Amino acid sequence: MLSLANPSPSDRSSAVADVRGLIERGLKSSFWRLSLPDGLEQRYLHDAIEARVLHTQHAGWFALLVFNSFLLVDWLMVRDVFWNSVLIRVGLFTPAGVLTLLAGRQLAKLSRDKGWVNMADWMSMISGWLAALSLAAILLQSHSPWAHYYHAGFLVIIIYGNLVQQLRFPFAVAFSVLVLALHGAGMLIAESFPPGVRTGTMLMLCVATAFTLVANYLMEKATRRRYLLARRDEQMVDELSAVNARLQALSRSDVLTGVANRRHFQGQLGLAFERARADGAPLSLLMLDVDHFKAYNDRYGHPAGDECLRQVARALQEGLRHPSDLVARFGGEEFVIVMQLADQAAAVAAAERVRAAIESLGLRHEGSTTSAVVTASVGTATLAPFGDITSSDKLVSCADQALYEAKRAGRNRVQTYREMPG
Ligand code: GH3
Ligand code: MG
Ligand code: MG
Repeated sequence: MLSLANPSPSDRSSAVADVRGLIERGLKSSFWRLSLPDGLEQRYLHDAIEARVLHTQHAGWFALLVFNSFLLVDWLMVRDVFWNSVLIRVGLFTPAGVLTLLAGRQLAKLSRDKGWVNMADWMSMISGWLAALSLAAILLQSHSPWAHYYHAGFLVIIIYGNLVQQLRFPFAVAFSVLVLALHGAGMLIAESFPPGVRTGTMLMLCVATAFTLVANYLMEKATRRRYLLARRDEQMVDELSAVNARLQALSRSDVLTGVANRRHFQGQLGLAFERARADGAPLSLLMLDVDHFKAYNDRYGHPAGDECLRQVARALQEGLRHPSDLVARFGGEEFVIVMQLADQAAAVAAAERVRAAIESLGLRHEGSTTSAVVTASVGTATLAPFGDITSSDKLVSCADQALYEAKRAGRNRVQTYREMPG
């Protein structure tokens, strides 16, 4: 049965419009506003959880490699504590890092299931802080004359957190402040730092950190914008498919009665014919015509005639028992019903049922010479076996002939086409 019911009821479409409004608002939001409007922010954070944890994991493997390759720098700059740094980097930090990274996929899944939207940021921050602590520990033990140049390592860690791991902006700020504080404290404790170098180094590190934060902010803004654009595209596709589905339903249905139109009937009959022929299954067609309908129009007016056709169509739909049966308006006050897998007996029974259903609508028809109420005549034709018949048109013309017989025999009756050519 064809349904013209709107596939997107008004409350759903207003919800869709609300989301679209939020997306547009987000796209137009000021440069200084990072968070998305209302409900979208939570949705964005949730949608990003898994991908962010996986990114943290991939970047983490790379960072672990870099972290250990800094042993070369340790050898060159703080050789006096080289074996300590081997212990810290290879013995402590690396095993902890490897264990966390190996659990990356499970962590991603777990955080998605639990809705831990900050998981990736905490993982990156903690690993970055631990790296900074390792650096500070190595530095504090060293008395190498090159040790203060070694402080550039803190910038490497800030770049790791803010640009490689792409911490979300508030986390990036907190991370940077803590690493800078660690760096500052280290400089104050270390006696080897001349005061001028101390201030200069701190200043350079602060400016470099600020630059990484600007880049971090721009990246996050761009990521959020991409998310909004993707959501907008998704929504447009959804809306287009809904409109498309509705248009398709409209193109298949009859405007007045809502049942299938003749074009859809032709297509469906062709398909049913091919299927039945391939399976050797029976196929029946009922053709139904309202009796004395011209007189009905003449007496009650065209709008009443339209209403009568609507009621007849509804009675036909309701009179059918199998979901694959198709009711269509053939034209004017004529309807057809395609019945797959229905042999002659089933077709005749269905025809009698719908004829009686129309009669029992009890629509007064004073212009009829057949009955006091609206009635219809039905012709049925069944193909089984198919024999030489290669076109469904034959079935239509046989049902039409049977209908003509029903009219001639007095109307308000069912007539079966008995001599199917085979
Ligand atoms: P019969 O019992 O032999 O079928 O007689 P009839 O009067 O039903 O048949 P006829 O073909 O003479 O008239 C059919 C009428 O159906 C004529 C036409 O005005 C009317 N009709 C066709 N389409 C519509 C429609 O969409 N709405 C209305 N109200 N009437 C329609
Ligand atoms: Mg007619
Ligand atoms: Mg008629």
